[in-house]
Amino acid sequence: MKNFVFSSKIFKGSRYGEGHPLNIDRVWPSLEILKIMNWVSDDQIIFNETATIEELTLFHDIDYLEALKKAEMSQNLSEIEKKKFKIGVGVNPIFKEVFSRPAAAAKSSMTAIQFLAENKANKILNFSGGTHHGRQSFASGFCFLNDCVLAILKAKKLNFKNILYIDIDAHHCDAVQDHFENDDTVNLISVHEQDKWPRTGKVNESAISNIMNIPVPQNFNDNEMLFVVDKLILPYAKNLNPDLVIVQAGTDCLEDDPQSNMILSNFAYWQSISKLKDISMKTLILGGGGYNPYITAKAWAGNWLVLNSKEKLLETTLSEECQNLLKSLSWKNSRVRNGIPKRWLDNWLDDKKSSFVRDEIKKLVDEVKKIKKL
Ligand SMILES: [Zn+2]
Repeated sequence: MKNFVFSSKIFKGSRYGEGHPLNIDRVWPSLEILKIMNWVSDDQIIFNETATIEELTLFHDIDYLEALKKAEMSQNLSEIEKKKFKIGVGVNPIFKEVFSRPAAAAKSSMTAIQFLAENKANKILNFSGGTHHGRQSFASGFCFLNDCVLAILKAKKLNFKNILYIDIDAHHCDAVQDHFENDDTVNLISVHEQDKWPRTGKVNESAISNIMNIPVPQNFNDNEMLFVVDKLILPYAKNLNPDLVIVQAGTDCLEDDPQSNMILSNFAYWQSISKLKDISMKTLILGGGGYNPYITAKAWAGNWLVLNSKEKLLETTLSEECQNLLKSLSWKNSRVRNGIPKRWLDNWLDDKKSSFVRDEIKKLVDEVKKIKKL
């Protein structure tokens, strides 16, 4: 059976605006890399249109969706609407495609679930998805909609009975947890940096039957991630025997991302996803956070190889064409003040660093196991 990568044409040229962490290109370059490297065939790429307001009401309130659509049409909202829906305030700016872009990401995630349910595919990658902070009736944390919640709700509707959502983004999946906690058809596992915005996802919430929160300290490293995956997540997840696994694979957990203090290499990132994708036959891998365009595009393109069990190809160097694509991306960040570091351009795999599992991580794993009675 063929695997698919889902995207939407809207991402090329769409940015959040000057000064915003998402004023970068991530989704289209990830796909472009796959094409340049000949890692995907045309019949495996599906471009989706935007979801309709009606489709989005599966999770979101209609008055919020209408306001979001209005914000896109008029590029403005009244002060009352801005405040009520948190659109055009703080970190959630009104930009040209403020409705259509998240609605396209949501359409991809929902259609992916439909493909999996109808047995048209077993594994799908949608790196435009992973907007795990979007709320039912307001925007939050750069997220205007929540394709993760929409995908899970769609899966429930299409008769998946035992859904497992695993989130390795540096930020906790607050809006997903709030919607599904105590729903015994959906289990959630989140690895995230502790005390980071939105400051939710405490370890003691693992006492809720369908929640496993693993808040990790700063400088969370490769060996620690693989320890958590092997000793805690995999045995727990396999025992759940899910009929669908959704992985939110934000790249802000990587070392060179500016938004977190986690220090994973893409080796541990890909290896973790490789293990998670085989928990169930049906798997959807999403994107998520990721605020360094170069390492994000590489990581998400690599997820396609991981999904297809072709990780070996990542033990090579980037082609010149691929390097040129990355060099063409712009990023206003002090990390590239003196040009793009060679280590991001030369090889697919980051340099391996030796690291060890700190006692606090062993204690954290023991604590979660104790709460979960494992
Ligand atoms: Zn994040």
